[in-house]
Order: sequence, then structure tokens, then C-alpha cells
Amino acid sequence: MTKLHNHESKAVKLNEKKISLVIPVYNEEDNLPELFRRLLPVMESLERSYEIILINDGSKDSSLPLMLREQKSHPQTVRVIDFNGNFGQHTAILAGFKSAKGQSIITLDADLQNPPEEIPKLISLLDEGHDVVGTVRKKRKDSFFRRYASKIVNKIMNKVTGFSIHDYGCMLRGYSREIIDIINECGEVSTFIPALAQKFAVNPIEIEVSHSARTAGESKYNLFRLIRLQFDLMTAFSMFPLQMITILGGIIFAVGVVLACLGIFGHALSFLLAGIVTTCTGITGEYTGRIYQEVRKRPRYVIRKIYEEGNNV
Ligand code: UDP
Ligand code: MG
Repeated sequence: MTKLHNHESKAVKLNEKKISLVIPVYNEEDNLPELFRRLLPVMESLERSYEIILINDGSKDSSLPLMLREQKSHPQTVRVIDFNGNFGQHTAILAGFKSAKGQSIITLDADLQNPPEEIPKLISLLDEGHDVVGTVRKKRKDSFFRRYASKIVNKIMNKVTGFSIHDYGCMLRGYSREIIDIINECGEVSTFIPALAQKFAVNPIEIEVSHSARTAGESKYNLFRLIRLQFDLMTAFSMFPLQMITILGGIIFAVGVVLACLGIFGHALSFLLAGIVTTCTGITGEYTGRIYQEVRKRPRYVIRKIYEEGNNV
């Protein structure tokens, strides 16, 4: 069923290969004018046909009018998908993928932390035949806490998922049409796009890209949302934690038997065990909750309207 190789698209000449940019936007009014100012010259310099797909993920500020103004001035290249509410960065990107018509697809953030000037680098690697261009932020300009936490999370996630991705969080990435077709066939609700793409990649590559500090607006991820995102990543790509729980249960039971035989009981031990049991129940709950989400089969997102050429009234 899956269209793993689309030979037709391979036959397309390089300069005819269309590029799709997918950009999720949530309350970025202070960044959008500068983003458009820097993005267009980069895209024009490539001398290729391209489209810019902006997904408004329920912004409450004036992001939507700013995007619509841009769409009106460039009706041939800019499309705006207006969500009915806030469904999350990865879900917004998935909606962009469904709508993308290009042979090379690039995702990037709207806050200019991913410099648009890096896009040609990604495009030329896709042209060379890589189906996923992963990225690592060089000299990442985020808080010490975010950088340090990411280091630990990247290590844990690679162990747990079996992938070798060095910066899960950098969303300036490139994908081939083949990969996007496969992702478009995945119906999962909670997911993590770089990992999903890596799962299907045949010839991936990872490169360094520069990174800038957020100069306007604020990060949309507080500690709670960051933790939730990591659980999305873990539960979507690994059964390892569930298997660990079973093994841990066996070990604890064996220790209990030994201690009971020796006649040693202590308060510390009960706290320790209670902690382990609660954590394990929590992890199981994370999976169960997501199974419940999947079986409900609610739409992943709701589009209020799509603004594109001939559909702007
Ligand atoms: N974003 C989104 N929906 C969300 C959260 C974020 O569309 O619910 C967008 C946001 O506007 C930005 C990108 O995703 O374009 C990355 O978000 P942010 O800069 O807050 O993440 P950080 O750089 O702090 O990881
Ligand atoms: Mg950011």
C-alpha cells in the first residue's frame, strides 16, 4: 500500500523540482514581518518553483491578519491553513505536509530561531538524493536549562527508540516527497515528526545548522508542555519503558523474597518501592492514555479555512 518509491518524481528535472516550506505559527506577530522579509529573497535565489505553507495554530494575536496580508501579496506562492484552535506544533506541520505539493519539503519555525538562510544547504542535500536531512543546532541559543535538559533527553531518547538523532528538537529539517507520502499515510494522533521521518528514511544525513536566540515573543513550551512532548516521542516510538517495568517488577520481587528470608524490613525500603511503583504506574498510564486517544479517532485537527489562490473571499 505504501508508495515507498515514486519513480515519476525522480524523473522531474532538478530545476523543476518544487520546494514546499511548512511553517507552524502560534502567536508570532512580532516575528512574522521579519520572517517574510528574510524568507522571500532566500527562496527567490534558488530559482525554483516554491510554495510557502503557513499553518495558523490558533494564534490569539494578529498573526493571522499578517499571514493573510502576505498571502494576498503573493497568492501564487503563499497558502495559509487556519486551524480552529491550538493543536500543537507537530500536528500543524502534519497538516502542512498533507497540503504540500513539492518534491522537497522543508519545515522551519516561525520565530527566526532557524535562520532561513540555511534552507539552500538542506535543498542541495535533498537534491543529492538524501531522503531526510536531519539537523543539529550549532551553538544553540536557548537557556542553559533547555540546552542541558535537551542533552539528557537526546541521549535517553536514542537509547529508548534505537535511533541516532543528535538534536530531536531542531525543526529546520528537509524531507523528500517519498518520506512525506509515507508520513501522510500515518494516522497517529500523538507523534514526533523527526523521529517518524527517521523511521522510514533510507538515506538520511545529519548536518549542523546555525541557531539564533528568540528576539521577539516567547517560547510556547513551558516545562509541562516540554515533558508532554517527550512522552509523545517516547510512547510513539518505543515499548522499551513498558518492558523495563516488567523486568523491574521481577527484580523488586526477587529482592523482596531475599529480604524476607533474611528478616530485614525498613521504612526506607517502603518509600523506595512506593516511588518505583508510582513511577511505573505513571509510565503505563502515559501509554494507556495515548491508546485511548487513538481509539477515539477524533480528527487530529480542524481547519477553519484554507486561504489560497482563488479561495480568498
Ligand atoms: N508552535 C505552534 N504551536 C504550538 C507551539 C509552537 O505552531 O502549540 C510553533 C511556534 O509558533 C514556532 C514553532 O512552533 O513557529 C516553535 O515553537 P517555539 O519557538 O515556541 O519552540 P522552542 O523554540 O522554544 O522550542
Ligand atoms: Mg523557538
